Amino acid sequence: MSKRNNDHNSEYNKAVKDIWDKGQKSGYEYICFIDLATGKLVEPVHTDGDAHYVSPTFVEIDHLMSAPPDSIHMIHNHPTSSSFSAEDLRYSTVPSVRSTEILGHDKIKYTMMFKDGQRPLASEIKSTYDYEFGKGFPGYVGKVLRGEMTEHEARKAHSHEINQAMADKYGWEYRRN
Ligand SMILES: [Zn+2]
Repeated sequence: MSKRNNDHNSEYNKAVKDIWDKGQKSGYEYICFIDLATGKLVEPVHTDGDAHYVSPTFVEIDHLMSAPPDSIHMIHNHPTSSSFSAEDLRYSTVPSVRSTEILGHDKIKYTMMFKDGQRPLASEIKSTYDYEFGKGFPGYVGKVLRGEMTEHEARKAHSHEINQAMADKYGWEYRRN
């Protein structure tokens, strides 16, 4: 492995550790964007001080809008350990965003690669996500009510299923590990 790759990996590893440590401590969501050309973070890891939501800074938005296609990787944590939300998948509409990952607090990791897939409009992403959500929802409610799953387990499994369907539909590469 080249020196350059090592540097890239160390920035990435530092960012992952930073998000993990801060998220575990506060229970909030944290986010950062890595410029894959330089291996550097666009801005330091940050939060909105919320357990279910985090937004990019204006500097990050500006960078995402001007960066070349498929040159940015986004990382954030989910204290709930659920997979990507419809809002998270809206980053696929930004051509510079190549891929994204979630660090779930249950030590679960989700990765979505948008590169080589479709980049539908945000409105379509939302409606497809809502449709897939609605398809699985009654089944998971039943499982929780019958005591076969906890609500937490059901939300995790359901969001994973939705993301599998989204990846199939739009040609994205999705992994959970
Ligand atoms: Zn998210």
